[in-house]
Amino acid sequence: MPIYSCPKCLGDKFFLRNENILVAGPVGPTGITSMKNVPVKTPICKQCNETMNVLPSPEEIEQELEYKERMNLGIKSLLGLALSFFGVILLGNLLINLFS
Ligand SMILES: [Zn+2]
Repeated sequence: MPIYSCPKCLGDKFFLRNENILVAGPVGPTGITSMKNVPVKTPICKQCNETMNVLPSPEEIEQELEYKERMNLGIKSLLGLALSFFGVILLGNLLINLFS
């Protein structure tokens, strides 16, 4: 669940207001975009009637951090693999140079 926060009072008390927003529909053969009303629920601050900001929940932030960490680890292990690969080549060259 995302967290709702009021941009004015930073409160988290809100109600959902039913609103209709105009959304562009599919473009017809005449090239005219049809507009249609789509009902949406907008979170509104109970105190100041402001539209609430939607913030990611702690779980979502944690998930993102975890994802980033995993990406980092992936890059690091790839780097390690590449480095050890080069290490083997260098060692091989060294040995060849030593015994030739
Ligand atoms: Zn507010």
